[in-house]
Amino acid sequence: MTRFEALKAKEEQLLCRTYGRYPVSVARAKGSKIWDIDGKEYLDLLTGIAVTSLGHCNEELADVICEQAKKLIHVSNLFYQEEQLELAERLLKTCHMDKVFFCNSGAEANEAAIKIARRYQQRVKNTKRYEIITMSHAFHGRTLATLSATGQEKYLDGFAPRTDGFVQVSWHDINALEDAVTEKTAAVLMEIIQGEGGVNCLSPEYVEKVQELCHKNGVLFMVDEVQAGLCRSGKWWSFQHYNVKPDVMTNAKALANGLPLGCMMTTDEISQAFVPGSHATTFGGGALVTKVGAKVLEIMERDHLAERAEALGAYLADKIMALDSPWVKEIRGFGLIRGIQLTCTEESAKELWNKLIADGIILNLTQGTVLRLLPALTIGTSELDYFVDILSKHLKAIEK
Ligand SMILES: *Cc1c(COP(=O)(O)O)cnc(C)c1O
Repeated sequence: MTRFEALKAKEEQLLCRTYGRYPVSVARAKGSKIWDIDGKEYLDLLTGIAVTSLGHCNEELADVICEQAKKLIHVSNLFYQEEQLELAERLLKTCHMDKVFFCNSGAEANEAAIKIARRYQQRVKNTKRYEIITMSHAFHGRTLATLSATGQEKYLDGFAPRTDGFVQVSWHDINALEDAVTEKTAAVLMEIIQGEGGVNCLSPEYVEKVQELCHKNGVLFMVDEVQAGLCRSGKWWSFQHYNVKPDVMTNAKALANGLPLGCMMTTDEISQAFVPGSHATTFGGGALVTKVGAKVLEIMERDHLAERAEALGAYLADKIMALDSPWVKEIRGFGLIRGIQLTCTEESAKELWNKLIADGIILNLTQGTVLRLLPALTIGTSELDYFVDILSKHLKAIEK
């Protein structure tokens, strides 16, 4: 038995079998590189699913983690903490929002959004609105409420009954949305760029119409920026590619570059819905994670990482299209959230993905035939070139 096989067997014994893991055991990582337990090197184009945007084990963040760990890690939200305010100020400078609520994950950020939407409608506006409308192929998390928001059968299997108050409509279909809005609707929750769903992008016309429809009907317009947010799309927030201003937005993944931290942001008007006791979390926004989050935002701003993501994303897309492969239909996305839509069968796509992994390239295969790329915003062009060379080799090998 190899070391890897032994580790796999031990995990079968010890952990709940919730994950279909990649055939790699990670021992350490730095920048855009990962090394397995046998010392084999990989190029990481997935960054822990859009989390380590500033690269693995970023030195500046490591220093902040060490210093803060000796000063204050956690005291709970019963206390005032300057670190939270430092991060909140930086976050609010990036957009039109006025208030922040900190939590630990993307699902929790969306829970906070769903809760504030209901409470705003019921306690501030004195309506009976409670329903949240979401889009097909959405992904909003795995708690029972966010699972109902996600609405995908494969994730809901065996967890009946569904949490009440969620309605799903066809993605990018304004008539379907119009028909679904009723006097029960509290909010529309959507990703501007669907990540898990295959890196699907919306037309400006549609996004603006959704906001208009919401405003006209007293419905909150909420965007899930958990994956596409924080410079990844080439702007601070993916909605900023469109002429809209959501009422509520959520973020998590890249916020503390690998430490658990999420947030829900909203306007002064809507934030009236929460009063002391309305919502809470023990860990959310502790001093250590928010101190790191503040440094993440400082670095993103200082190093112009939104612009960098935009430029590198265009560079990568051009290089892949220049391969002129019959197996590449298109490359979707903005900045460094990209989906390569393959034209081959799901079987061939899986085989291609396996060969890429074996050749030391870490990326994600989603929706059967979409290679999803979420590299660090700090990745180098030579690393992207290396990936395109390897991809080219394996695309050529796909049987006609
Ligand atoms: C990952 C993700 C979530 C869930 O985040 P967790 O931290 O896993 O709970 C929610 N929404 C989107 C768009 C995501 O990509």
